[in-house]
Amino acid sequence: MKIADIRATTVTVPLEAPLRHANGCHWGRFVRTIVEVETDTGLVGLGEMGGGGESAEAVFRALKSTLVGCDPARIEEMRFRIANPSASLYNNRTQVLAALEFACLDILGQAWGVPVSEILGGRLRDRVRFAAYCFFRYPNPKDRSGEVRTIDQLVSHARDLRERFGFRTYKLKGGVFPPGYELAAYRALAEALPEDTFRFDPNAVWSTEQAIRFGRAIEDLPNDYLEDPVYGLAGMRRTREKIRVPLATNTVVVNFEQLAANVRDTGVDVVLLDTTFWGGIRQCVKAAGVCETFQLGIGVHSSGELGIQLATMLHLGAVIPGLSFAADAHYHHLKDDIIEGGRMSCTDGSIRVPTGPGLGVRLDRRKLAEYSELYRELGDYPYDRDPLRPGWAALVPNDRWADPDDASVPDVR
Ligand SMILES: [Mg+2]
Repeated sequence: MKIADIRATTVTVPLEAPLRHANGCHWGRFVRTIVEVETDTGLVGLGEMGGGGESAEAVFRALKSTLVGCDPARIEEMRFRIANPSASLYNNRTQVLAALEFACLDILGQAWGVPVSEILGGRLRDRVRFAAYCFFRYPNPKDRSGEVRTIDQLVSHARDLRERFGFRTYKLKGGVFPPGYELAAYRALAEALPEDTFRFDPNAVWSTEQAIRFGRAIEDLPNDYLEDPVYGLAGMRRTREKIRVPLATNTVVVNFEQLAANVRDTGVDVVLLDTTFWGGIRQCVKAAGVCETFQLGIGVHSSGELGIQLATMLHLGAVIPGLSFAADAHYHHLKDDIIEGGRMSCTDGSIRVPTGPGLGVRLDRRKLAEYSELYRELGDYPYDRDPLRPGWAALVPNDRWADPDDASVPDVR
């Protein structure tokens, strides 16, 4: 079996409402690149990558001269062909490799008649638990629905997610408003849902002193962990020395060099594995083995997925013995998906691991065409800009917070 063609299509899929974060905003939709790898036997494997547009599609087109004719089973060979670590200063293709790895594993599963989880060691669980991913959100500009700005709105949003999906753990994405306001919001969540657990992530925009202040102020709550309160392993180590809450990261331990540094001089208790940022599902399984050896906690990170990437997260979550925490997913903010059957369903706070051959998801061609057309109409949005603060950029550490009393509605599509 040989790779015969590689195709990439950019899509944009609407969210319930724009999601605010420390560096800007998801302006009411995600932009993703859907990758199809076709073999000479007629199988099509699916991959997905964040962002898109002509430049992303061109990257995949350009790799055809390297990969057409290769055996999709030789995934380790492909890693060195297109993402050799010693060439990464010139060719940083980690996320591209990840999308192609997903597609090759999907092909192999289809060819062998087994789900990807069986190729990775076999599933240990049939469902993967997820956390509610609570963002501060601007209102949807079309109908003004979905705003999460006040503490009351946050609490009722979390209650609604618990009702709809059965979540029992909640992640609050902070770093948007002044830390004192976000502390009050986080404490109000914990008070409103006394049987559940919580995690907070300000995307590394605080000073170490601010991180310590916040960490100490939440020590009495049922925290899973405090995620990336500061930027850099040195700041994480200083914070960790002074608080009694586990620290997690998806930012400063995203490769094996950094994982080794963290083992030698620990600043992070829980490593959040992202199938895209680490360069594929298999790299995450390897990293999980290292974490297990050194008794570090493991989580599954979300970088804003549609159904294909969600399937990679489910297969990963299914095969890691020491998955200590509910996984993260932006998925419940989406209004639609590009896979057959529409969005995967989440019940009792968990999603079923696909059991069909390969990744177990198939492209809905009509949806792909619809959201690729929508992308052509709307184009990209700047992830690191806030639509209502045009001249603004966050500092690290930041002191340029948004105003929680400002109820403006952004004019975005
Ligand atoms: Mg994070």
